[in-house]
Amino acid sequence: MTGQTAKIASLCECGSAAVRQVNQFINQGELWWDAEFSCDSCGTYLCEHSEQGTAPDDVREALLAAHGPARLRLARPAPSLLPALKVFREVSAVSLSQARELAEELSRDGLAGTLPEMSLLKTRLQLRGVPVDIDGWR
Ligand SMILES: [Zn+2]
Repeated sequence: MTGQTAKIASLCECGSAAVRQVNQFINQGELWWDAEFSCDSCGTYLCEHSEQGTAPDDVREALLAAHGPARLRLARPAPSLLPALKVFREVSAVSLSQARELAEELSRDGLAGTLPEMSLLKTRLQLRGVPVDIDGWR
């Protein structure tokens, strides 16, 4: 299972500094994220959220800040980017013109995102015969 975790400084109701731990992972071929809140001072622990799909911006930003972006690139020139368009429309639920932009980025500089996001795209693209690889993540 591919997953990443980050901790975000937060404030507890008791007034102490607390921690929000956010996780993004792939479960049964789908992208998920969740968040846990914990305070060492008063012992509060909450499962804040767990949801399938793209994580909210603050969660993604925390993961990108903690781990750096993963970059998905074409491993070699693809004969056609049509299969990639299909994958972007399925996975990212984007319009056809947005999917086209993503496919063009993929063939030029590559697409950047969190490792779980790029891993999911990699799997889906490879299933459709698009040769892709991930590089450049710390
Ligand atoms: Zn507390």
